[in-house]
Amino acid sequence: MKGLTTCPYCGVGCGVEVNVQGSSMDKVRGDKQHPANFGRLCVKGSSLHETLSHEGRLTVPSVDGQTVDWPEALDEVAKRFKSTIEEHGSDSVAFYLSGQLLTEDYYVANKLIKGYMGTANVDTNSRLCMASSVVGHKRAFGSDTVPCCYEDLDLADMLVLVGSNAAWNHPILFQQMQAAKKRNPNLKVVVIDPRKTATCDLADLHLAFKPGSDARLFCSLLAYIAKQGALNTDYIEASTQGFEAALEKAKEVGCDFDEMAAACDLDAGDLAQFFNDYVATEKVITIYSQGVNQSASGSNNVNAIINCHLATGRIGKPGMGPFSFTGQPNAMGGREVGGLANQLAAHMDFKTPGAIDRVQRFWNAPNMAQQDGLKAVDLFNAMDEGKIKAVWIMATNPVVSLPDADLVKRALEKCETVVVSECVANTDTTQVADILLPATGWSEKDGTVTNSERRISRQRGLIPSLGMARHDWWIMSEVAQRMGYEGFDYSHPYEIFAEHAQLSGFENNGSRDFDISYFSDITREDFDKLKPIQWPVTADAPEGTARMFTDGKFFTPSKKANFVPVSPSAPVQQPNKLAPLIMNTGRIRDQWHTMTRTGNAPRLFQHRQEPFVELHPRDAVSRNIAEGDLVKVFNQQGRYVARARIEEGQRKGEVFVPMHWNDMFASNGRMSTLVEKVTDPFSGQPESKHAICDVAALAPAWEAWFITRSDAKLLEKADYWAKIPKSNSCLYHIAGVDGVEAWPAWCADHLGAPEIEMQDGSGKRYRAAGFDGDRLDWVLLVLPYKEYPSADWLDSLFAKEEPLSELDRQMLLTATDVDVEDPGTIICSCFQVGSYAIEDAIAAGCNSAEALGKKLKCGTNCGSCLPELSAMVDAVHAKAS
Ligand code: SF4
Repeated sequence: MKGLTTCPYCGVGCGVEVNVQGSSMDKVRGDKQHPANFGRLCVKGSSLHETLSHEGRLTVPSVDGQTVDWPEALDEVAKRFKSTIEEHGSDSVAFYLSGQLLTEDYYVANKLIKGYMGTANVDTNSRLCMASSVVGHKRAFGSDTVPCCYEDLDLADMLVLVGSNAAWNHPILFQQMQAAKKRNPNLKVVVIDPRKTATCDLADLHLAFKPGSDARLFCSLLAYIAKQGALNTDYIEASTQGFEAALEKAKEVGCDFDEMAAACDLDAGDLAQFFNDYVATEKVITIYSQGVNQSASGSNNVNAIINCHLATGRIGKPGMGPFSFTGQPNAMGGREVGGLANQLAAHMDFKTPGAIDRVQRFWNAPNMAQQDGLKAVDLFNAMDEGKIKAVWIMATNPVVSLPDADLVKRALEKCETVVVSECVANTDTTQVADILLPATGWSEKDGTVTNSERRISRQRGLIPSLGMARHDWWIMSEVAQRMGYEGFDYSHPYEIFAEHAQLSGFENNGSRDFDISYFSDITREDFDKLKPIQWPVTADAPEGTARMFTDGKFFTPSKKANFVPVSPSAPVQQPNKLAPLIMNTGRIRDQWHTMTRTGNAPRLFQHRQEPFVELHPRDAVSRNIAEGDLVKVFNQQGRYVARARIEEGQRKGEVFVPMHWNDMFASNGRMSTLVEKVTDPFSGQPESKHAICDVAALAPAWEAWFITRSDAKLLEKADYWAKIPKSNSCLYHIAGVDGVEAWPAWCADHLGAPEIEMQDGSGKRYRAAGFDGDRLDWVLLVLPYKEYPSADWLDSLFAKEEPLSELDRQMLLTATDVDVEDPGTIICSCFQVGSYAIEDAIAAGCNSAEALGKKLKCGTNCGSCLPELSAMVDAVHAKAS
C-alpha cells in the first residue's frame, strides 16, 4: 500500500511517498505532488525507512525503573504533577517540548499547562533554533510571520545566505537554488559565513566574515543604501515607521568600505561588490538560519537584515524578502500553538491587551497563566536551584542539546519528578527520568506539521504503534483528565486540529496573522485528505496564502512595519589565554539532532563516522596535530574528544564541531558541555555559534577497533570511544592514553581468551577474534589509525551463518581483506561511491560534479553530495595550478 506523509527532519518539510508492507516500510521516495520538494528527497529523507528499527525503541511505560501498565503510569504522572502544584504552586512545574512534535501534540501540551496547570513554564527546543527570528519578526511586523515562499527562490535575482549552510541543512531548498542558478546564470549568490561550507559551492561571492559581525554588516548596508540614494521612500512613508532612528543607528556604524572591512575582517573589494549588488538588484532574498539566530545579539541580527528589506521595499513581492529557514520539521507549528514560554496561543502573547482573557474564554480554562514563563536556559537554571520540582520532557534530549549540558543533567538529577515521553529507550535524557512514557514515532504519529514557508502538511500514521507506544496528545489528554480537567476528551487528532483552527479565528477579524479558521469544522475525512497548504487559510483565502504583506500592511496597531534601531554588539564569549579559539557548532549532512533516529541507519555514518573537530591548518600545526589525530577540545566548563579534520575553509583561530554526538554514541561527544549559558536578552536563544575553547592532541598510547555483535564490553577500559552501527555488527573506535604492556593478557582479561590471535614483533599491532559456536562474535584490531581494513568487509563476516573459512580467519589475523576494496570515505550515500573512486575519476579527466555523476552515478539521486563533489574537483584543480 502506498501512503503520503512528510519528512520528520528539517524545516523544508518535504512530502514523502512510502510503500507500506503490513507493519513496516520497504521504500521511501519523494512525493512528486508536494510543493516543498516536487519528488526530491535528500539522503536523510531517502533513508527514512532504514531508521524504523524496533531495536532500541521504548515500548513500555515505567515508573522509578519498574515496568507498569498505562493506567498506572498515567495515574502516577497526574498524581505527582497535582501534588507538586498543590504543595509548591503552579510555577514549580514545567514542560520542555520539541519541534519534532506534531502541531496537535503541541496544542494539547500548551492548553494543559497554560490553561489548566496555571503556568507558562513551557518551552521547546525551538528556543535553540528559531527564537531570535520570532522576536525579529514580531518587533518588525507585529507578528511572527515569514513573508516569503519557496517559489520566491526561483524568482529572485540575488540570493544572500547568511549563517545558513543550506547545502547540508536544507538540502532540497539548496537544490532548488542550484536549479535556479542553472536556469538563470545571472542569479547572484552571496554566502556570508565564517566557514567555507558546502553551500559556498553555489556562491559567486563568499564573505568569510569575523563571527558575530552579522548586525554590523547589515547596519552598514542600511547606511550604504541610504548614502547611495537607493531607499524606497514611498514604501518607507506608506508602510513603515521608525526609519529615521534606525538609520541614525546604522550611520553610527558607518559604511566606509575600508573601515567596515577591517571591522568584519573582510576584503574591502568583496564588501563593496556585495553592497553594490544588493543596491542594484531589486529581487533580493536574504536567507538566514541558525548562524544568525544562535547569537547573544540574534534578535538584533534579524532586525538588521529586515531593516534593509523594509528600506528598499523588498518584501511582500515575488522574488524578494527576508526568509528565515527553520531548522526543525515543526518549529513553525510549535510557534502557531504558542509552544514557547513567552507566547500564549494562536500567535497571541501575554502582553497583548485582552489576549489572556480571550484564550481563557475560548478554552474555558480554570487556571490561566498570566505571564511569560521561563525560557529554556532559565528553566533548567531554576530546576538546578530547586524551583522547578516536576518536569515533563517530550521528544527531545536537553542533556545533549542545551548549553552547559552538564548543568542540565545535574538539574534533572536533582528534580523530584522527571517524566520523559520518548520513542527511544536509551538517550542521555531517558537516563535521568523517573517516569518513562513510550511515545509513537514517525510513520505511527498522525497529525500536521508546518514548514519554513508556512505550509501545513499531514504527517500520517501509516503503520501500527509499536508495543505500548501511544500518541503524545493522547498521553497528555489522559493525564489532564486524571487531574480532573475538562476539555481534553479528544478521540482523534482532527478534533484537536479543528479546535486549533477555531482558536486561530476566534475574535481575530484580521487582527492576527495566524488564521486557519477555514478548517474550523474540518471532518475526519477531510483531515485525512488534507493537502499541503500555506496559512493563513480563511474564508477569503481558502486555497491558502503564498506571500504575506503583499498590500504593505502589517500586524502592528498602525498597520505599519517597524524599523528597529540596532546597535551591533560583540559576542559575549570572547577568546582568552585559556580558551584562545572560537568554537562554532552546527549540523552535518547525514545526521539529525542527537541521532536518536538517524543513529539507526548505518548508511548515515558513512560520511562522518566519529565526532570530529575542524580546524585551520596553522592552528593544527601550532598544536602538533595531524589529520585524523584524536584531540580534546576543552574549556573551563567542559570537554569534547574527537577526530581532527584539518580544513582550509576554516578561519584561523576558529574551530567547528558537530552538534549530534552524545553519550550514547561517544565517550565525550556532547559539544554543548563547552557552550556557556549566554543568551540573547530578547529571545533567550543561546549563543551556540560563538563558544570558546582550546584544542590539544589526546596522544593516545593505542588505538583499536572493536567490532562486536553483542555488547560493548570494552568501553569502560577506553579513554575514547565512538560507536558506528553497521548492518550486522557494531564497530567501536576505541583508544587509551595509558600503554598496554601485553595485549594477549589484556584481551584475555577483558574479553576472555580469543579463539584466534596474532601479535607483531613490536607488540604494537595485535589482532584477535572470539567466536560464539561457529559464528564470529567479536574482533579486536589494535592498529595505528590509518592501517584499518575495510569496515564493511569486517561487518560482512558477522553476517555469515556458516563457520568462517580458513582464508577469512587468516585475513582477520592479518587484518587485510583481499577481495574487498576500501572505498575511502563514502561521499555519495545513495550509490555508495567512495572518495577513492572519485579521486581516480578526477585524475582520469572528470572535471565537474556532473561529469563524475555521468561516470560513477554519484550525486545523481538525492544530490546531497554535489557540493562535496565540486569541492573535490576544485581541490584537485587548485593543486594542479
Ligand atoms: Fe527531509 Fe531532507 Fe527534505 Fe529536509 S531536505 S525535509 S531532511 S528530505
